[in-house]
Amino acid sequence: MQWEEETLAWVYNRTDGCCRYCEKKLSWINYASDGARGAWEVDHSVPVALGGTDYLSNLWPACIYCNRDKGTMTGPQYKRLFEEPRRSPPGGGVLQVLAGVALLYLLYRALSQPKQQ
Ligand SMILES: [Zn+2]
Repeated sequence: MQWEEETLAWVYNRTDGCCRYCEKKLSWINYASDGARGAWEVDHSVPVALGGTDYLSNLWPACIYCNRDKGTMTGPQYKRLFEEPRRSPPGGGVLQVLAGVALLYLLYRALSQPKQQ
């Protein structure tokens, strides 16, 4: 897709030249220069494959990595991946639940101990 320079500038400035997703600084001159520092592309928030349009409202700047990684997710769906509490390592959530259960158990024990005579 070839964009008018005007469109590119509008999209780029939309986030002050940062990837909409990982917020990495993008390099204006490295538009579509895969492998270059700050390389970026115009991302369709709603992918064209899902009926997304070329209207400005659907266009966002994204680094090439995010744009490729996003695949057919919508912008908000993909962005959510970056907003979840610090992408905990696999199993991190389970440990948190276990810690919570252990705490409740201790509390229960403490409360249900027979009163001292
Ligand atoms: Zn990015």
